[in-house]
Amino acid sequence: MSEQALKSQLDELIKKQAVSQLKPSDRYAIEAQPMPEQDPVARRSSVTEVAQGYTELQARLEAMRCLQCKNPLCIKGCPVAIPIRDFIAHIANGQYQAALAVIKQASLLPAVCGRVCPQEEQCQLECVIGRKYKDPMKAVSIGRLERFVADWADGSDAAETPDVGPATGKKVAVVGAGPGGIVVAADARRAGHDVTLFEAFHKPGGVLVYGIPEFRLPKAIVQKEVDVLTRMGVKIVTNFVVGRTRTISQLMQEDGFDAVYIGVGAGLPRFMGIEGESLVGVYSANEYLTRANLMKAYDFGQGSDTPIAQSKHVAVIGGGNVAMDSARTAVRLGAEKVYLVYRRTEKEMPARLEEVHHAKQEGIEFRLLQSPQRILGNEEFRVEAIECLQYELGEPDDSGRRRPVAIRGSEFQLPVDTVIMAIGNTANPLIRQTTPEIAFNKWGNIEVDDQCKTSMDGVYAGGDIVLGAATVILAMGQGRIAAKAINEYLGCPD
Ligand SMILES: Cc1cc2nc3c(=O)[nH]c(=O)nc-3n(C[C@H](O)[C@H](O)[C@H](O)COP(=O)(O)OP(=O)(O)OC[C@H]3O[C@@H](n4cnc5c(N)ncnc54)[C@H](O)[C@@H]3O)c2cc1C
Ligand code: SF4
Repeated sequence: MSEQALKSQLDELIKKQAVSQLKPSDRYAIEAQPMPEQDPVARRSSVTEVAQGYTELQARLEAMRCLQCKNPLCIKGCPVAIPIRDFIAHIANGQYQAALAVIKQASLLPAVCGRVCPQEEQCQLECVIGRKYKDPMKAVSIGRLERFVADWADGSDAAETPDVGPATGKKVAVVGAGPGGIVVAADARRAGHDVTLFEAFHKPGGVLVYGIPEFRLPKAIVQKEVDVLTRMGVKIVTNFVVGRTRTISQLMQEDGFDAVYIGVGAGLPRFMGIEGESLVGVYSANEYLTRANLMKAYDFGQGSDTPIAQSKHVAVIGGGNVAMDSARTAVRLGAEKVYLVYRRTEKEMPARLEEVHHAKQEGIEFRLLQSPQRILGNEEFRVEAIECLQYELGEPDDSGRRRPVAIRGSEFQLPVDTVIMAIGNTANPLIRQTTPEIAFNKWGNIEVDDQCKTSMDGVYAGGDIVLGAATVILAMGQGRIAAKAINEYLGCPD
C-alpha cells in the first residue's frame, strides 16, 4: 500500500473513534503490515541491512491490529516479560517515547532484540491473532514494533544516558562484552558500582559484532549501546582474556574486585569429526563470520587487512541461524553457488523463519535430508568436493525432532571449494581450566542457582556459558537476574 493510502486509512480510523475505542472488527480489518526490504537481487552484493524497518504510518496501523487483550498472552511468551500490550497501545496513539519507556523497564537493548529475537517462537507464538490465523507470522508484529520504537528514539532525546547512583566503593568485573555482559555492566553501574568490562576481542559486543552479520544487525546499533556504557562510566578493557591475562581469582584477590560476572558465551565451534576437515577451504562458521563481520574481510584490500576464501561453490553444513548467516555472507562475498546442506527437513530447521525466507530469496540452494560423510581434497590439500549421504526421518530423538537416518548406498558428491561447518558451538574450556572453584556441568557449562550465582562466592554467570548456545534475549534476561543478585550481594539492592 502507498504511504498516501496508509495515511488515509489511519486518518479514517482515528476519525471514527479514539484509538483505544476501536472495536475488534476494526482491528481485524487492518492488514498486517509487511516489512520493507531491500531487493533480493541487489542485496546479494551489499552488506547493508536487508529489513528496512516500518515507517511511522505502518507502525501505527500495525499497532492498531493489537486487540489490547485483558489477559495478554503475548507477555507470557516473552523471556523478559516486556509489557507488550502497553507499549503497543502507546505506538497506536503515536506516543513513542512512552512506548520506549515501557520496553526499557524490561529490555535494555530493544534495537537489537527487535531485529534478532525469534518472536515467532516467543511472544508472537502466543498472540491471539496469530493463533486465530494459526500462523505466528500473521500475529501482531511485536518485534518490528519494538524495532520501530528503538530506531525512532535513536537521535532523539529518548536516547539519553541512564542515571548512575552515588559511588558505593565496590568494584564489579564483567567478563565478556556480549549482550549479557552489557546488561550486567549497565545495571551494576546504575547501582553506583565501579564497573570494568573485560573483553577478549578488540571490540565489545560479543556475537552481536563478530557473529550476526551487518545485513541483519548493523554494528553501529551495537556500538551505540556500548557508547551508553562508556558515558555511564563503565571502563571497557579489550584484548583482555580472563583465564590468560588474569584469572578470576586474581581479579578478586589481587585486583580488588568484589564481584564478578562471567558472560563469556559459547564460542568454541563444533566439527563433525569426518575425514578432510583439516583441508584448506574448511572453516568453522565462527571463523568465517568473525573474518567477515568483525574483521570486515568483505572490504579486503580496501579498508581491511583480513583475507577470506574467494569461493565459487560453497557448502554450509547446518540448519540454524548460524548456518543461514554463513550462507548469506558467502553470497555477499561473491560465491556463485551456495548450498545449505542439512540432514533433516525444513520443518525441523532451528533457524528463524525470516532468515530461511531471506536465504531462499537470495538464491541459496537448500539440500535437505543430506549430510557430508567426508570432505575430498586435491593434491594441494584444497577442498574440491563433499561426499554426502541421503537421509530419511526416523523416530523422534531426545529433542523431540525426528531423528535423521542415513540411507545406505546413497553416496553422491557435490563439487565445492569451500565448506563452512555451522553445526553448533560449545563452551570454551579456559575459565573451567583456570577456575577450579566453579562447578561446571558435563557439557562444560557453568552451573548456577536461580539468582545466576556460581559455586564460587561473589561470582555470577549467565548467557550462553550457562545455557549452551541460546539466544540474545535469554542472555540479557540472565544478565538482569545476575546484576540484581550482585547488587544485593554488595548491599545495594535496586
Ligand atoms: C552467527 C550467530 C547468529 C545468531 N543469531 C541469533 C539470532 O538471530 N537471534 C538470537 O536471539 N540469537 C542468535 N544467536 C545467539 C546469540 O547471539 C547468543 O545466544 C548471545 O550472543 C549470547 O550472549 P552472551 O552474552 O552469553 O555471549 P556472547 O555474545 O557470546 O559474548 C561473549 C563475549 O565474551 C568474550 N569472551 C569469551 N571468552 C572470554 C575470556 N576468557 N575473557 C574475556 N572475554 C571473553 C567473547 O569474545 C565475546 O565477546 C546467534 C549466534 C551466532 C553465533
Ligand atoms: S496477545 Fe496479541 S493481540 Fe493480545 S495484547 Fe498481545 S499482541 Fe495484542
